[in-house]
Amino acid sequence: MPLTPEQQAEIEALRSAPRETFRATAPGLEAELYKAHPVLDHGFVRVIDYMGDDAAIVQAARVSYGAGTKAARDDAGLIRYLMRHWHSTPFEMCEIKLHVKLPVFVARQWIRHRTANVNEYSARYSILDREFYIPAPEHLAAQSSVNNQGRGAKLEGEEAARVLEILKSDAARAYDHYREMLGQEGQQGLARELARMNLPANIYTQWYWKTDLHNLFHFLRLRADAHAQYEIRAYAETICRLAAAWVPHAHAAFEDYRMGGVTLSARALDCVRRMLRGEEVTQESSGMSKGEWREFRETINATKR
Ligand SMILES: Cc1cc2nc3c(=O)[nH]c(=O)nc-3n(C[C@H](O)[C@H](O)[C@H](O)COP(=O)(O)OP(=O)(O)OC[C@H]3O[C@@H](n4cnc5c(N)ncnc54)[C@H](O)[C@@H]3O)c2cc1C
Repeated sequence: MPLTPEQQAEIEALRSAPRETFRATAPGLEAELYKAHPVLDHGFVRVIDYMGDDAAIVQAARVSYGAGTKAARDDAGLIRYLMRHWHSTPFEMCEIKLHVKLPVFVARQWIRHRTANVNEYSARYSILDREFYIPAPEHLAAQSSVNNQGRGAKLEGEEAARVLEILKSDAARAYDHYREMLGQEGQQGLARELARMNLPANIYTQWYWKTDLHNLFHFLRLRADAHAQYEIRAYAETICRLAAAWVPHAHAAFEDYRMGGVTLSARALDCVRRMLRGEEVTQESSGMSKGEWREFRETINATKR
């Protein structure tokens, strides 16, 4: 179960006692506030708090007071302009605070995003729960032969069953030893800060993670991308849906310019221009390396990410 009964009770209490405010609220995100959105087998993402909405971005860009009388279409247009021209500070006026439960190996990738505020569950102070990420069979895959940082074909049959069994039994044995080292009746027991050190990286941790919308989009651009590891992508995709509910215009501009758009090098742009003039451009005449040419071909052949 992703949530403890105490966490569930806290969510119900918070959602049954709405508070009035003069601050801007985003109705789409209000509907999601505090709720746990399941990710992987035991994880979740919850929105704990947020500040600002689409209008806050527009307001900062216009350095004005209030939304004024501009039509919604104008606001959407201005947000698209800001996104297109990398005028990023207005997006920093919006903030979001998430409660995330995630496997430690996912947390190690996530924590590389330094432009956020983080407070993590302390395994020096508390005992970790017996919860481990075990991939669903469709996500158990072999090492990719073309991408050193990726996975390839799905593991099948006996091999898949054996791998799952190893993952489960290693996690169970490590956790049993963890509890044993913490001590039994009449023993001193090893300190929690030491006993945790042989736990596997698929054990779950939790943290509060707060960031602004500009840096959130940067995180999502990298981690909701098809090249990101599936496990962190599952979290990023959930957060993308929450961002769409929170700042629909900004999210739509992000989808269009960042997730759906590409950056072309001067060399690649020159190739596009030559192709548009009817010239047959090859890898040799493009001036690009084989890998760069392959990526360029994939891009202009409009392969969906
Ligand atoms: C597909 C993929 C594969 C990866 N593989 C590896 C890997 O093999 N090994 C590895 O170690 N990492 C790897 N990473 C992590 C990657 O190198 C970045 O650390 C991570 O994506 C965070 O990006 P960021 O630094 O832009 O984000 P943030 O830390 O949020 O920073 C945002 C921006 O702020 C600026 N900034 C923040 N801090 C500093 C600083 N101290 N100095 C200068 N500018 C700063 C930079 O402009 C930065 O882009 C990988 C990431 C991805 C998405």
